[in-house]
Order: sequence, then structure tokens, then C-alpha cells
Amino acid sequence: MSISQPFQNIIKFTSQFTWRRRLCTSHYTMSSKHTPARRIEGLDKNVWVAFTSVAADPSIVNLGQGYPDIPPPSYVKEALAKAVAVDRLNQYTRGFGHPSLVKALSQVYGKVYGRHIDPLKEVLVTVGGYGSLFNSIQGLVEEGDEVIIIEPFFDCYVPMVRMAGAKPVLIPLRPKSGTKTVTSADWYLDPDELSDKFTSRTKAIIINTPNNPIGKVFTRDELQMIADLCIKHDTLCFSDEVYEWLVYKGHQHVKIATLPGMWDRTITIGSAGKTFSVTGWKLGWSIGPEHLIKHLQTVMMNSLYTCPTPLQEAVAQGFLVNYELMGQPECYFSSLAEELEGKRDRLAAVLQEVGMTPIIPEGGYFMLVDVTSLNQDLTHMTDDEAYDYKFVKWMIKEKKLAAIPVTAFVGEESRKQFEKYIRLCFIKKDCTLEAAGNILKNWRKV
Ligand code: PMP
Ligand code: GLN
Repeated sequence: MSISQPFQNIIKFTSQFTWRRRLCTSHYTMSSKHTPARRIEGLDKNVWVAFTSVAADPSIVNLGQGYPDIPPPSYVKEALAKAVAVDRLNQYTRGFGHPSLVKALSQVYGKVYGRHIDPLKEVLVTVGGYGSLFNSIQGLVEEGDEVIIIEPFFDCYVPMVRMAGAKPVLIPLRPKSGTKTVTSADWYLDPDELSDKFTSRTKAIIINTPNNPIGKVFTRDELQMIADLCIKHDTLCFSDEVYEWLVYKGHQHVKIATLPGMWDRTITIGSAGKTFSVTGWKLGWSIGPEHLIKHLQTVMMNSLYTCPTPLQEAVAQGFLVNYELMGQPECYFSSLAEELEGKRDRLAAVLQEVGMTPIIPEGGYFMLVDVTSLNQDLTHMTDDEAYDYKFVKWMIKEKKLAAIPVTAFVGEESRKQFEKYIRLCFIKKDCTLEAAGNILKNWRKV
């Protein structure tokens, strides 16, 4: 079978990397000036760089990198077109967030939090959820600090903490013993184990609900347990809630910042990419108390300074449309979740039909799948890689179906526990999911 272009790219990426390193070593070893800053040492690999080239190959069904192939709501696209038609909106805007956007955010989240949110002092608009995480960690985490991170975690948390000179302290979600892990609710955080991770050096804990990749939606009790520890040890909480609206029936998104004593120590992270299905717009925000947000603002004003004005204007309009509809079925925040729930259930049904074991997510748009039952022998792939990495590379090449290996979201010690899983993204058109379903149904037929 011929090797497809994207798969060749993955191989090329890896070998080019080795080649360049060889070149660099032979050519530059004499000069210490050409070595990387210590804060980025060892951070030069990333699952997205390695696995996203498949998106360009139409012969591959791509359930890998998380982005919608369904269209965003027409009113946000129209609002963007209208914004760029206004000359003033093509120029720089306020550094910490375009006035109409911070106002809209304070309106919407004021309702959600049940408190007044100061648009100028308690909100910061950034480049995506990534920017918000980066500003939070750079602005508040110090060299020598420890930051607790729950596995599986969105992969950038660890390198961002390291770049700040701090130590990531990992704790895995564990499957409840005695039950088949059917849904993401069957994965839990052991309170004693978590308590043991807190030390005098703990500066913050990063939580992510709904979680990427496993889809867990933390319950109020679980969040209360985390909050109690944050308060006991006087630590901060960075709460990544970029999938906050995507919660499925029977579950509820709870903001840890709304629990008693938590507003003052929590930065909550949001993303327009996830909220309005426009991941390429790369706009995000942090919401929190003035005494913390001001440090994120310092990082922002000395790094990127401001975000694109027309995009902020369009997102503001999107929020204003939905502010009026909140609580009604037409509101995009709930209608998208409803649409996705059907896609989740259809994908899970196909996976179960072919003997795979999905972990049904309570929220977000990813599903983990245990591929053990396929007994796919990959011993011919000699790379010293986790099984899931080999499996995904093999699947892209042989089955033309792309996914993301789950060990990209855990540390070394948890690799064995998670390497039997791959992650599939289901915010896709029905025809894309059907094409994936057909690949799965024909899995055994060669
Ligand atoms: N947090 C999580 C959990 C994510 O999945 C992502 C990926 N989009 C981000 C943050 C970053 O969001 P953005 O694309 O808005 O930078
Ligand atoms: N958040 C998306 C995902 O998890 C995209 C991440 C990225 O492209 N860096 O797939």
C-alpha cells in the first residue's frame, strides 16, 4: 500500500527533526550562543505539530485535532464581515480587550456567576484559551513553585508550567474499580491522593471541566473537594472551562469560581473558538478578581499587547445575540450541545457495534476509545513509542482514519495506563462521522 502524503509528512517531520539536530550539533556545538533558552529545553515536541498535517489530505477521515467541520453560526460570520467594513474597527483597540467584547463578556458571565463582573478590571481578552493559560501561568507562577495538574490534561499545561520555571505535579484520574469504565463519570480523583500532592510550594492547581481529552464533567462535590484543598493550602486555581457550554443531558457545568471562597483565588479560562465553533479566530479570555487579573494584564501588555479588533467585535455580537436567548433552546450555547449529543451517541454506537470500547464523555467534543479488543499487532513498528502513537500512525496509513494518541495528555508514569486509548473528535458533519463509521465497520475486511 502506498504511503499517503500526510503520513509521509509525519515520518518526514520526525526524520527531518533528527537530521537538523545532527546538523545543528555538528555545526554549532562550538557556540553556546546558539543553544536554546533553558526554559524551553526538552519542550521541542508536540502532538499537534506531528499529527495535524493529515487535515490537508481529503482521502483521510480526520477525527484528530479538535475543530469543527460544521459551520459556525451565520450571525458571527456576518458580524465579522460588518466589522471589517468599518474603518475604525480595522485598527488597534484597547489592549486588555475591545470595549464591546469585555462588556458583552461581563454581561453574559455576570448572569452565569450571579455577580457583577467589572469589564475593565476582571476580564482580560487574549489569543485563545492558550493565551489565557499562558498569561495566567507566566503572570502568577514563580520559579520553584509546584503546580498540580490532573491527568489526562490538555497537553500544553505541562510545558507552560515548565517555561515558568515551576514543577508540574501530576495526579491521574483513576477508573473506579469493580465497574466497567463506560462513561467519563467512572473516572475519579482520589481525595487522599490529591491531598498528598499539596505542599508548601504548591502555587496552583489547573483543572479542566469539561475535560479534554476524557470528557469528564467534574461534579459540584468533586469541585468542592478541590476547592477545600485550595483554601486549606491557600493556592490558586486555573480553571480551564473552554468547553463550558458543551455538557450533555444529566450533567451540569459548575464553575469552581462560584463556590464559597473561590472567586478570589480562581482564574477561569474561556475560548471563542469553542463557544462559537470558530477555532481559527483564536480569541480567549480570563475572568477573575482584579488582584489576579492585573498580573495577567502585565504579561499581556508586555508581550502581545492587544488582539485583533474585528474578531473581538464579531464575538461581542455573538454574545449579545445569545445573551437574549440564554435559557431558551435556540441559544447557541445549548443548541450546539444538543446537536453534539446526537453525534456523540451515533459515534459511540458504531464503536460498540465493532467491538471497541468507548468512554462516553459527559461533556466536550472528544471520545476516548479503548482499542485493546482489536488486538492489532504493531511489533513491526520498531519505534520506541507508546502503543497509542504507533496505533494512530498505523491507522492513518492503513485505515485512512486520523485520531490523537492519548499518552500525549499524560506524563511518563501514567503512560502504561493510557496507551490503550485513542481520542476521536466528534464535532463533525454527519457525513464525516458516517465515513468514519464505514471505516470502522469494514475494519476486519481487508
Ligand atoms: N484548553 C483546552 C482544554 C483545549 O482543548 C484547548 C484547545 N482548543 C484550549 C485550551 C485552547 O483554546 P484556543 O484554541 O482558544 O486557544
Ligand atoms: N484543542 C484542540 C484539540 O485538543 C486543538 C489543539 C491544538 O491544535 N493545539 O484537539
